[in-house]
Amino acid sequence: MTLLVLLLIVGSATAIFSQAGEKIASRPAPTDNCQLIAIDPGHPSETSGGCVHHGLKEVDICWQVALQLEKLVAAEPGLRSIKTKPQVDRLVTNRERAEIANAAGAALMLRLHCDSGKGSGCTLYYPDREGTVQGVTGPSEEVITQSRLAAEAMQKGLAGVLGSQLKLNPIKTDSVTYVGSKQGALTGSIFAKVPALVVEMVYLNNASDAAFIKEPAGQELLARGMLAGIKEFVSVNR
Ligand SMILES: [Zn+2]
Repeated sequence: MTLLVLLLIVGSATAIFSQAGEKIASRPAPTDNCQLIAIDPGHPSETSGGCVHHGLKEVDICWQVALQLEKLVAAEPGLRSIKTKPQVDRLVTNRERAEIANAAGAALMLRLHCDSGKGSGCTLYYPDREGTVQGVTGPSEEVITQSRLAAEAMQKGLAGVLGSQLKLNPIKTDSVTYVGSKQGALTGSIFAKVPALVVEMVYLNNASDAAFIKEPAGQELLARGMLAGIKEFVSVNR
């Protein structure tokens, strides 16, 4: 009888709730030694619904790539994932996104976005110093170090898969972003207690980038590149 109860507890997923008390994700049952990846499809958040260019909505593109990545991770022995929102249009604050990854004990929080501005191609951002927002200062030195290692591993994984099909820019840091320059780090990074990385997958206002990421093949290539980066990171991190 005792054994049966224990199995039921071990076999139960742990629900993760938003600050408003709404269930937004489940942590898979800790039944194996899998590394858990928190896939965070960008927007809508408290600050933005995401950009729109060339008839493409950033929020939709991020969701579609997240689903591709989720599928690839699920097929990978030793890896599992959770998403930080259950539906494409669900508003989740940047703080909640980090808290979901923290509560899940993620090996990595991977935040998917599309950029707007001058430039093209894919760019990674990681927190390189602590920042302060909502009275909270973070992330820790350990998270900063691990986020840098994650960025380097992700850059290597992406480079190997993207080849010449999508430009890969040098790694950047939170502090060069608009929000990061004011706060010290992005809000999602400040609240992160796990390694955190933003992938600005393309410049959505760039016509050839938009054409690339509009197609399922482009989305899949990015997802495969990110999977390679995840595997590179968790293997060096083990
Ligand atoms: Zn975005």
